[in-house]
Amino acid sequence: MNLAHAPLRLTLRETFRIARESSDVRDNVLVTLSDASGAEGIGEAAPSPYYGQSADGVAAALDGLALPQVSDPKVLEDILAALQAPLANHSSALAAVDMALHDMLGRNIGIPLFRIFGLNPDRTPVTSFTIGLASADEMRRKTQEAADYAVLKVKLGTPEDRDIIRTIRQVTSVPIRVDANAAWTVDETLENLRWLADEGVELVEQPLAADDLDGLRRVCDAGGLPIIADESARTTKDVVALRGCVHGINIKLAKCGGLREALKMIHIARAQDMKVMLGCFIESSLGITAAAHLSPLVDYADLDGHLLIADDPYRGVGVRDGKMILPDRPGLGVERA
Ligand code: MG
Repeated sequence: MNLAHAPLRLTLRETFRIARESSDVRDNVLVTLSDASGAEGIGEAAPSPYYGQSADGVAAALDGLALPQVSDPKVLEDILAALQAPLANHSSALAAVDMALHDMLGRNIGIPLFRIFGLNPDRTPVTSFTIGLASADEMRRKTQEAADYAVLKVKLGTPEDRDIIRTIRQVTSVPIRVDANAAWTVDETLENLRWLADEGVELVEQPLAADDLDGLRRVCDAGGLPIIADESARTTKDVVALRGCVHGINIKLAKCGGLREALKMIHIARAQDMKVMLGCFIESSLGITAAAHLSPLVDYADLDGHLLIADDPYRGVGVRDGKMILPDRPGLGVERA
């Protein structure tokens, strides 16, 4: 098997702001796997600066990577198990290789990925659409432009949180999911949970610092709205530790290391009666479609990264009335746009 990688720079439609950062472009990495028979698979690494990752770091990790020599590229478990240690600090690179392997497998046997997992494509959830932080006028405009989406996601964790929600509520009545990106204290969260519920908010993502599990347990016990862990929930071990601390977890392929790890996290979460969300970073339709193939298994999808970019080089999962439509082509089913 041969592994190649290339820069994948994505330009955002509009500057994207959350509590801790803002950005106009996103530097991801395209990974292509091929074998002697000419079979190919592609994947996307979306390195997150928050986790100390970068496109350069992904490229360096992949350059130094020795793929395990296997006679059959369909033994994904063997290959991915061998890559766990060398890519331990490069979850987005591991995710890209994992996607490419799954894509190659599906194309080899001529079956879409969701069918390999035995999933019903009619069970995809609606996806939320993120309204980035901006001036009141801009947020009203962005909200009106998002009329096709059945759920909105709003990034909070600012001094103007109440004004932001009120502004959006002036122009829409759809459910809102809020993400504080670890910016609130316990007291702030308890206070915010009270008024957010009255504003038609459906759930709160990561109110507290990633390592504040005691705090999460307190706000979870207080009741009100479902609390979903994102920054606190990177891997399977985190899901176990979060038992009783949150109502659910947000899984992202680039965060956990790919489809295989995501599937394990989903099952562990379900065994603990947790809700599951599938999320993303700013990614092209390549990375988003990979995650979407697992979406019939989850309660909430937040797979809108490709909708926020101006120059998506790929075409894959679609959205109709907010609901995700999986491509019925072999493998990831992703094509050049
Ligand atoms: Mg989040």
